[in-house]
Amino acid sequence: MRHIKKRVLVTGGSGFLGSFLCERLLADGCDVLCVDNFFTGTKRNIKHLLDNPYFELKRHDVTFPLYVEVDEIYNLACPASPVHYRHDPVQTTKTSIHGAINMLGLAKRLRARIFQASTSEVYGDPEIHPQPEAYWGRVNPIGERSCYDEGKRCAETLFFDYRRQHGLRIKVARIFNTYGPRMHPNDGRVVSNFVVQALRGAPLTVYGDGSQTRSFCYVDDMIEGFLRLMNHTPDDFPGPMNLGNPGEFTILQLAELVREIVGGPAEIQFRPLPGDDPRQRRPDIALAREVAGWQPVVPLREGLAKTVDYFDGLLRDMDAHP
Ligand code: NAD
Ligand code: UDP
Repeated sequence: MRHIKKRVLVTGGSGFLGSFLCERLLADGCDVLCVDNFFTGTKRNIKHLLDNPYFELKRHDVTFPLYVEVDEIYNLACPASPVHYRHDPVQTTKTSIHGAINMLGLAKRLRARIFQASTSEVYGDPEIHPQPEAYWGRVNPIGERSCYDEGKRCAETLFFDYRRQHGLRIKVARIFNTYGPRMHPNDGRVVSNFVVQALRGAPLTVYGDGSQTRSFCYVDDMIEGFLRLMNHTPDDFPGPMNLGNPGEFTILQLAELVREIVGGPAEIQFRPLPGDDPRQRRPDIALAREVAGWQPVVPLREGLAKTVDYFDGLLRDMDAHP
């Protein structure tokens, strides 16, 4: 019998997480359609996949309808770094909401299972710690981060309404801070900032007093979590499911660890804290453990070392070919 490959659409497929997801899906024997408008993603992230006959790249903005034929959809398209999503907040909201509507409409026509890359930002600046999925969050609807936070919250609403109203099979993941190779060097997120700064011997920019906390998950663990949620949870299980590493660090601890791994003399420079910056964040992953049998395995030190290696190579390459 001829083996028919599963056709999978990945929106935001040339971004940081999307490129690893495309790679993993191809390795698992899928036929992958990567859709991206290259707002924050780059062709460099997927260059090594372009020769694969089961990989197809389409330049497209998800705020416009998309007519393709696939069996499954992963909706990742959306800038994820505060610097990028605040750059054009109206487009960020449109990407979250119109993008969700377009991808849900596609899933409805195709009766395809659809995954949504939601975020821990739906919890806002939380008063409950760690954050379980049952917590409704504390989000400012009119602040600098609102385009992203409220956009992602409304996208979750749309996913659950399509499920209730149209019987769609949805899988909503709430992703906590994830890091690794292929983050954009000017992305503005804390791990890429610190690693690039340390490698350049520049001061590490700590916002506020650095006592705010985050929990950092290595990209390989996160991608495994996506696949577990999509393929190894009951068909009628929609989430939301937290995916993240419960190890919690202050931003100052992160700066010190990066400095130690890179081994340079970089000093720490304190800068003003951006508006609505959450004080603390750590996922409660009991649900992921129980329903998907998932938990992260890569310790921060090990993941950071791999990330430093990647950026070291990238910066050398960029210096050699400006
Ligand atoms: P990223 O910025 O590297 O990737 C996002 C991709 O989406 C980019 O390739 C970008 O060009 C593309 N994109 C943006 N707007 C688009 C549009 N209108 N149409 C088509 N493509 C568009 O970010 P990432 O870290 O890979 O994040 C991927 C997804 O995961 C995002 O939805 C993000 O909100 C979510 N997420 C990520 C994290 C994290 O820590 N990395 C945490 C929570 C949620
Ligand atoms: N941050 C920092 N220095 C930087 C970039 C970020 O101290 O150069 C802080 C930021 O204020 C926040 C944390 O690091 O408290 C995580 O920021 P990031 O943008 O990576 O993600 P967030 O979790 O805020 O979406």
